Amino acid sequence: MQKFECDIVVVGGGPGGSMAAKYAALGGLDVIMIEKRAEIGAPLRCAEGVSKKWLEEIGVEPDPAWISAEMDGAIIVSPSGHTFKLDESHAGNEVGYVLERHLFDKALTEQAGKAGAKIWMRTAATGAIIEDGKLVGVRANRMGDEIEIRANCVVAADGFESQMARWAGLDTSLDLKDLDTCIQYRMANIDVEPNYCEFVIGSAAPGGYVWIFPKGDRKANVGIGIQGTKCNLGADPKVYLDKFIENDPRLKDGTVLEIVGGGVSTCPGMEETTADNLVVVGDAARMIDPITGGGICHACRAGMYAGKVLAECAKSGDFSKDALQPYEEMWRDRMEDKLWRNWMAKEKFATLSDEVLDNLVLAIKDSDIKEVNVYNLLKVIKDKYPEIVDEFESMI
Ligand SMILES: Cc1cc2nc3c(=O)[nH]c(=O)nc-3n(C[C@H](O)[C@H](O)[C@H](O)COP(=O)(O)OP(=O)(O)OC[C@H]3O[C@@H](n4cnc5c(N)ncnc54)[C@H](O)[C@@H]3O)c2cc1C
Repeated sequence: MQKFECDIVVVGGGPGGSMAAKYAALGGLDVIMIEKRAEIGAPLRCAEGVSKKWLEEIGVEPDPAWISAEMDGAIIVSPSGHTFKLDESHAGNEVGYVLERHLFDKALTEQAGKAGAKIWMRTAATGAIIEDGKLVGVRANRMGDEIEIRANCVVAADGFESQMARWAGLDTSLDLKDLDTCIQYRMANIDVEPNYCEFVIGSAAPGGYVWIFPKGDRKANVGIGIQGTKCNLGADPKVYLDKFIENDPRLKDGTVLEIVGGGVSTCPGMEETTADNLVVVGDAARMIDPITGGGICHACRAGMYAGKVLAECAKSGDFSKDALQPYEEMWRDRMEDKLWRNWMAKEKFATLSDEVLDNLVLAIKDSDIKEVNVYNLLKVIKDKYPEIVDEFESMI
C-alpha cells in the first residue's frame, strides 16, 4: 500500500474543500485535496442560484465564464397564484447570479491548485486512520489502488452525504424533518421571465418550494424540494414536480435536458464542527440555509475560515480541538444566527396552510420592502402576523 504524508488532507473537491485547500496552501501548508469523482463539479446537483455580496467576502471576482445569467429580481408565488415581484430597484445586491456551477467549482479548484494544493481526482476516502485514539489521516482508493494519506489535520468537505466526519467520531445524524429531498430538471424551450428567479410556495411542494432559475435562451433549472417527513406514504418529489410542470403553460411543452436529484439539510448546522485533528466544512457540517436550501456561499466561507485557521495552527503545530476553536468561532459568528433563525422559520412555515401562505404573500406585496432577503420578509410577517413568528421574534 502506498503511503503519503502532508500537512492537511482535504476530503472533497466541492466549493468548501477547494476554499479550505486554497487558504491552507496560501498559508504555506502542504495540502492534498482528494475528490472521488472524475470531474470537479460534475454531475451537477444544484439549482445554481446565488446572491452577489458574498463573492467579495471570499475574495473571488465574478467571472462571466461561470455566470450563466444575471438576475434583475425575484418572484415569490403563493399557493393560489398571487405573485410578489421584486425588481432591481428594490432588490439591491441581494439578487444574484445563476451560475454555471460546474465551471464555478472548477475555477475554485484551479485557484486551490494555483495556491499550491495538490488535487487528486478519482480518489475516494474510504475511512479514517485512527492510532491510539488520534486521527492521523485517511485511507483512500486512488484509481483502484488502496492508499494512506497521513496528515496533521483532516478537512471533511465531502458534502451532504459526508462520511468523513462520522468515521472520525462526530455525530452527523440528521432528523428526517431537517432534510429536504430534491429533484430538478434542466429545461429548454420554456417561456419564463429570463431575469427573475421564481419561488413557488405551499402545497405544490410540501415543506419546501418549487424553483425556476433561468439560464438564458429559454432554459431554466426547474426543481423542487420537499421536507423529508412529507415524502412518506409514497409522496415523491418527482410526482410533485411533474404535476407542477404539467399545470404551468410556460413549462408544460418544455424539453428536459438533464435530471438531477439530491438532498439538502435544513437544520442550523452541526453542534460540533471540530475535533482533534479534524475540521468539518460546508454541507458536511450541515451549513445549508434551512429556508432557501442555498449552501454554496456558506461552504465557501467555512472553507476559507478553515484554511486560514489551519495555517495559524501550523505555526504552533497544534491541531487539537482547542487550537481549532477559532474556526468554530469564525463560522458561527458569521452564519449561525441566520441558520438558527431560518431553521425556526422553516419549522413554522412547514406547518402553515395554503390559505395562510396566500395571506403572507399578499402582506409582503403590500409592504415597502427594500431588499429581498429572508430577514426582510420575516420582518414584514412579524408586523402583519406576529403570531407566526412569536417563537423566534427576538431573532428578527
Ligand atoms: C438539488 C439541489 C439544489 C441546490 N441548489 C442550490 C442553489 O441554487 N444555491 C446554493 O447556494 N446551493 C444550492 N444547493 C446546495 C449546494 O449545492 C451545496 O450547499 C454546496 O455544493 C456545498 O458545497 P460543499 O463543498 O460543502 O459540498 P459539495 O459541493 O457536495 O462537495 C463535496 C464533494 O466531496 C466529494 N466527496 C464525497 N465523498 C467523498 C469521498 N469519500 N472521498 C472524496 N471525495 C468525496 C463529492 O464528490 C463532492 O465533489 C443545492 C443542492 C441540491 C441537492
